[in-house]
Amino acid sequence: MSTPKSITLSEDPKGIVIAWDDGHSAIYPFSFLRKACPCAVCKGERLPFDPDPLALPVYKPLPPNMTAAKDMFKIGRYAIGFKWGAGHDTGIYSFDYLRKMCPCSECAG
Ligand SMILES: [Zn+2]
Ligand SMILES: [Zn+2]
Repeated sequence: MSTPKSITLSEDPKGIVIAWDDGHSAIYPFSFLRKACPCAVCKGERLPFDPDPLALPVYKPLPPNMTAAKDMFKIGRYAIGFKWGAGHDTGIYSFDYLRKMCPCSECAG
């Protein structure tokens, strides 16, 4: 179970910085988080049988105003959510999900 010690805002790139309790920390740009939205609607836009959805450019292009988070909120003790453009806010980003998809070069490498 992954737990963040802190979540702060990043200005460049725009996004959040998560410092995990295992000592790791990484920047999650909003554009990355928006594409990784785990809700049923966004997952429905992905190609079926995609072996690694985060590694392949299979997403519909999103207009720029949809990749800026308008708000961020806690969901219980295990997840956070974002309010995106167009009022989209149904994705539940569990901390385990966020830890596994860490976009830093160390984890992605
Ligand atoms: Zn979604
Ligand atoms: Zn990482």
